[in-house]
Amino acid sequence: MTGPLFNFGAGPALLPPAVLKRAQQQLLDWQGCGLSVLELGHRSELFQQITQAAERDLRDLLAIPKEYRVLFMQGGARGQFAAVPLNLSGQGRQADYIESGYWSRCAALEGEKYCTAKIIDVRCQREGLSAIKPMSEWPISDQAAFIHYCPNETINGVAIDEVPDFGERVVVADMSSTLLSRPIEIKRFGVIYACAQKNIGPAGITLVIIRDDLLGRADQALPSILNYTLMAQSHSLYNTPPTFAWYCCGLMFQWLKAQGGLAAIALRNQQKAAKLYEFMDAHPFYINRVHPAHRSLMNIPFWLLQSDLVDLFLQQAQGVGLYALKGHQVVGGLRASLYNAMPFAGVNTLVDFMSAFLQHYGSANPQCGGR
Ligand SMILES: *Cc1c(COP(=O)(O)O)cnc(C)c1O
Repeated sequence: MTGPLFNFGAGPALLPPAVLKRAQQQLLDWQGCGLSVLELGHRSELFQQITQAAERDLRDLLAIPKEYRVLFMQGGARGQFAAVPLNLSGQGRQADYIESGYWSRCAALEGEKYCTAKIIDVRCQREGLSAIKPMSEWPISDQAAFIHYCPNETINGVAIDEVPDFGERVVVADMSSTLLSRPIEIKRFGVIYACAQKNIGPAGITLVIIRDDLLGRADQALPSILNYTLMAQSHSLYNTPPTFAWYCCGLMFQWLKAQGGLAAIALRNQQKAAKLYEFMDAHPFYINRVHPAHRSLMNIPFWLLQSDLVDLFLQQAQGVGLYALKGHQVVGGLRASLYNAMPFAGVNTLVDFMSAFLQHYGSANPQCGGR
């Protein structure tokens, strides 16, 4: 393998080479202070510069209104599955959990431990393909403390792009695999959370964006490190944070700004995903079962018409530098994750490879050939 390598893994995912280089340069000596960035005390002036810049850049990128707080937490998205009900469902209130795939279901099952969870399955079939019912048909409860949903199901490749509008109801979104892939209207949400290792930075840090008035709602004992109010009061320095991951996220935010911000990156993400979907639609040897209205731009699961060729596909793909295309173990098949850092060249190389693989192995079956 001599050419470039493209990592299609769903997470921990690829990081832009420019960001990795920068981190490498600053690893031994942070801005001439003689210490590694890994060695900076989390309450030191130097580290504060890093966290302040990171928050400022994130706020710029997402246009986060001033009444929202940004928390940098630990425990990943699964930690948030517990933190959300523990912080928001005071007085044993009920919460609505929208089920659209694997991760939203996991969130509901964890949430059930801490509140009365009403699980609302919004999946349906349209034209024989997986789809999601429109939000207007979701049977939301009047008394729900919050509505939890997942706008991008990383494993199923299903996206809910509709903008939530549930009046005064508090909307909580697990944006682990979609945050920073496009502009969003923050004001539609009460809480947005995302683990970092998909599209934001290295594993170990978790972003929470929360509207001010939702702080202080917990009326039960909850672990301090999951307590939003405590985290907000301590500027996310209640305990020792994952300093290096936080710093790397800051580098990612700078990189995103240099790419032209979220509108520019969203356009690129659309173009990248369209290239792969269009190729698969034209070649039934490759199967994606998600309705076009709900196809994820970030995570694209697919299957081969001849499923016994999957191992060979993976092996040959790796031979030309296409890594981590194996589907998640709960659904099998294949999956290409096309996060912000995936260049066009990666998608082009993948499509060229898929085309060559089809020519070689699909031609025996007339159903499979190119149309
Ligand atoms: C990856 C992922 C999770 C789990 O994240 P962890 O950091 O491993 O807990 C949850 N939700 C979504 C949408 C994900 O993509």
